[in-house]
Amino acid sequence: EGAEEPAALTDGIHLVVDALKLNGVENIYGVVGIPITDLARLAQASGIRYIGFRHESDAAHAAAAAGFLTQRPGICLTVSAPGFLNGLVGLANATTNCFPMVQISGSSERHIVDLQRGDYEEMDQLSAAKQFAKAAFRVSRAEDIGRGIARSIRTAISGRPGGVYLDIPAAVLGEIIDAEKGAASLWELVDPAPRQLPEPAAVDRAIDLLAGAERPLIVLGKGAAYARADESIREFVESTGIPYVPMSMAKGLLPDDHPQSAATSRSLALKRADVVMLVGARLNWLLGHGDAPQWNPNARFVQVDIAANEMDSNQPIAAPLVGDIGSVMDALVERSKPGRISAPAQWREEIAAKSEQNVARMAKRLQDAKTAHPMKFLGALQAVRDVLGDNPRAYVVNEGANALDLTRNTIGMKVPRHRLDSGTWGVMGIGMGYAIATAVETGEPVVAIEGDSAFGFSGMEIEVICRYNLPVVTVVLNNSGVYRGDEASPNGDPAPTYLRARHDLMIEAFGGKGYRATTPDEVAAALREALAAGVPALIDCVIDPADGTESGNISHLNPKGLTAKR
Ligand code: ADP
Repeated sequence: EGAEEPAALTDGIHLVVDALKLNGVENIYGVVGIPITDLARLAQASGIRYIGFRHESDAAHAAAAAGFLTQRPGICLTVSAPGFLNGLVGLANATTNCFPMVQISGSSERHIVDLQRGDYEEMDQLSAAKQFAKAAFRVSRAEDIGRGIARSIRTAISGRPGGVYLDIPAAVLGEIIDAEKGAASLWELVDPAPRQLPEPAAVDRAIDLLAGAERPLIVLGKGAAYARADESIREFVESTGIPYVPMSMAKGLLPDDHPQSAATSRSLALKRADVVMLVGARLNWLLGHGDAPQWNPNARFVQVDIAANEMDSNQPIAAPLVGDIGSVMDALVERSKPGRISAPAQWREEIAAKSEQNVARMAKRLQDAKTAHPMKFLGALQAVRDVLGDNPRAYVVNEGANALDLTRNTIGMKVPRHRLDSGTWGVMGIGMGYAIATAVETGEPVVAIEGDSAFGFSGMEIEVICRYNLPVVTVVLNNSGVYRGDEASPNGDPAPTYLRARHDLMIEAFGGKGYRATTPDEVAAALREALAAGVPALIDCVIDPADGTESGNISHLNPKGLTAKR
C-alpha cells in the first residue's frame, strides 16, 4: 500500500571514496579545487586521512613515498589542467623510481575539451599523462569507477611498480546512479601484487656463476628495499660471505657497519669484481651503465628483477633471475645450501684493506671539519649523525647536490627503508613531500636533510608540516647557493648560483620552531631538542659559502663546450 520507497542514490564522488576504502586506502595527498573539493571532504568524513598540500608536485611526491614505504599505491588527488600537470612531475618521478602510486585527477567537460571549445582548465589530460606514467586510464561513467580504481591499483603495484594516472571528469564525479547498482560495481582486489617465482634452472645458473667467481659482488638497490625481503637477503649475503654495495636507498637493508659492506671501497669493488649480482638495482647512469673503466670489462652479471625486459638493457646478463626479490632470494638461499657459494678470502681481504685505507683518509677530513669555522657541510653532518645515532627510529629524507653526496657518505643507516632520497633522476623537490608522507605513514620522526637550493622547491610545504603538527625536523645545509654561495657576478645581479634565506624564520611564520645554527654543537643541540619535542622544526645551518663543489659528485655531466671551467 502507499507510495513506493524512493530508490537510494549515490554519485561518482561517493563511489570513488567507497572504492578506495574497499581497497584499504588510508591516506590521500592532494590539493583541492574544482572539481574535487567535495571528494576530499567526503574522504575525510569517511575515515580516510586527507593531507592538503600547497603544491601538487609535493602531494604527488608524498604519494610516491607512501607507495615505497607501504607497498600499497599512494594516492594523490589533483584538480584539472595546471594542478594535474604539477602532479605529473611526481607521477613521472614515481614511475622512474618504480614506486607505486595513483594520481586521481578531476578534469573538465569532455564534450567541450575534445572539441577544444575553450573550457575552464581545458586539457586532454589522459593523452598528456600517458607518456609519463606506467599506465593512464579514464573513467567515463560512474558505474566504471570501481573498475577504474581496481585497474589503477593493480597496475601500480603488480610487476614493476610505477605511477598510474586515473582521469575522472567532473561530470562523472557528479553523476547520480542507483546506490545498489553503484555498490555492486565496486570490488576489492584479490592478491594485487602476486609473487613471481623464478625458474629453478635460472636459480641454479646464477648459483653456478657465483660459486665459480673469484671476486663476486652483490649490489643492493632500492627495489630490494621495496621488496621487504630483508631476512632472505641478509641470509644469502651472510651465508655466502659475498661483499655488497648498497645503492643509496638500500642503505640500512643490512646495517652500514656490516663487515661485508664494500660501501667504503666501492670504486675498487666495481672495478675488480668478476661476477656481479644486481638485486633490485638497474645498471643505469648511477652505476655507470656497467661500462669500463668503472667496471671490470670482463665482469659477468646476475640480475634479480621483476621486470624481464630490464635484463640486457645495458650489459649482457649471464644469469637473469626474473621474479620478485623475496621469492628469488628464498630460492637462492634454499638451492645454494650447504655452502655451495663462498666468497674467496683473498677478495674479502682486498676489499677490507681498501675500506680501512679510505676510512682513515676520510677520518682526517671529518676531524678537520669538526672545528672549522665558518661551519662546513661535514661539520654539521657529523653533528646530525651523532644525534641520529641516538634516535634509530628516525627516518632520513635527503636531497641536494653536496648535501646529498655528503649526507649519504656520512650518515650510516641501520634499519631498512629509513632513507628516502633524490632517487633515479637525482631530482630536487622531493624533500618535503617525502618527509610528510613518511611521517604520516609511519608515525615516526623524520629528519629531512636538505641543501638550501633543494629545500626551496618544496619549502612552502613546511606550512603543511605545521598545520598537521607532524614530527618532521628539516635541517637546511645553507651555504647560500646552488652548489656554493661565493660566486661573483659580472653585473649588479646575484650570480645564477647565489641564494639568500633565513629558513628558520620561515617556519616560525607557520607556528613551527626555528633554529639557526652556526657550529656543529649548535646543530646537535637543536636537533636533539627538536626530536625530543616531536614537533615541526627547522634548523638553518649556516655553512661556509665556499664549501661545496659544482654539481657535487656528478659535475662531469655538465657539458664542456667553450665556457671556461670555473
Ligand atoms: P637503485 O637506484 O637503488 O639502483 P633502481 O631503481 O635502479 O635501484 O632499481 C630498482 C629495480 O628493482 C627496478 O628494476 C625494479 O623493476 C626492481 N623491483 C622493484 N620491486 C621489485 C620486486 N618486488 N621484486 C623484484 N624486482 C623489483
